[in-house]
Amino acid sequence: MEINGRTRPTAVIGWPIAQSLSPVMHNAAYAALGLNWACLPFGVPDQQALLAFIEAARRLPFVGFNVTMPYKQALLELCDEVATLAHMAGAVNTVHCVDGKLMGYNTDGRGMLESLAEDADFDPAGKSVAIIGAGGAAGAAVTALILAKAGSLALVNRDTARAEQLMERIGDRLHGMSVSVHSLDDSADEVVRSADLVINATPVGMGAEDPSPIPASWLREGQLVLDMIYRPTETALVREANAAGARGLNGLGMLVAQGALAVDIWAGAERSQIHAPREVMRAAAEAAMDVLGAGGETR
Ligand code: NAP
Repeated sequence: MEINGRTRPTAVIGWPIAQSLSPVMHNAAYAALGLNWACLPFGVPDQQALLAFIEAARRLPFVGFNVTMPYKQALLELCDEVATLAHMAGAVNTVHCVDGKLMGYNTDGRGMLESLAEDADFDPAGKSVAIIGAGGAAGAAVTALILAKAGSLALVNRDTARAEQLMERIGDRLHGMSVSVHSLDDSADEVVRSADLVINATPVGMGAEDPSPIPASWLREGQLVLDMIYRPTETALVREANAAGARGLNGLGMLVAQGALAVDIWAGAERSQIHAPREVMRAAAEAAMDVLGAGGETR
């Protein structure tokens, strides 16, 4: 990648950011697409730094930026316009800078659908799904599952009030999908075991010694189990799912697809029919993971 006077910046912002795979994935995609862009990680330690970055993104020639923990919710308020899917998800992970305005999107949910289709040949239409967690990633997953016409959804969270809030936000857009809320305790056993697809949208599993967020006895043969975590590549949940005869899938495919969809949004505004090269991005992310090794996961 040659940086010159015409190179335009993109970014990933969050805190911490040192372990982020986004810069290598994005820069590999830009090189493959012949885009004179460069992605840099911006560690944003606090609200003041966040507001300074937002001001820079409005005034300087940024193409766009990705947002990771802990700022996905804050960007809902800081963008000038927010896409309906991001509102429903309750989180913005992708911002497109257009003539000094910030347009917020959420590509996590569609990235998850892309990974389910590409990596596991799974179509959620009519299927039963259980999601563990009720934060931003769960919101994006719920929104995507509505789009994909899933049959039923069980939201399982420690704090059931948070899961109820998520449902209130999108309750009038369910399009026939039935939804139930459950506490993350033994009472969720049956609803998780009966699901065709189980999704972990909590950070439990990111630590090398972390247990699975659910007991292995809740899993069964024939299920697909998606852990949104991708580092470590095999969490306790993925391991226990495979041992139970289910299929365990980690979150790397979702990570790659959400980043590729961001590139599609940014580049699609300049060129039509962009399809960022997922394989190139995945190879770059995998190579970077080999170098970074195990450790805290950040996009
Ligand atoms: P978030 O908004 O902070 O939500 C975290 C959720 O996890 C909450 O529902 C929280 O429950 C639950 N939780 C946290 N600690 C827990 C524990 N010890 N036991 C049980 N539940 C716990 O986070 P997020 O943005 O949704 O991210 C969730 C995970 O998804 C992270 O690991 C993130 O890296 C991953 N992710 C991956 C991708 C990808 O592309 N692969 C994309 C997005 C997110 P309470 O409500 O009860 O506190």
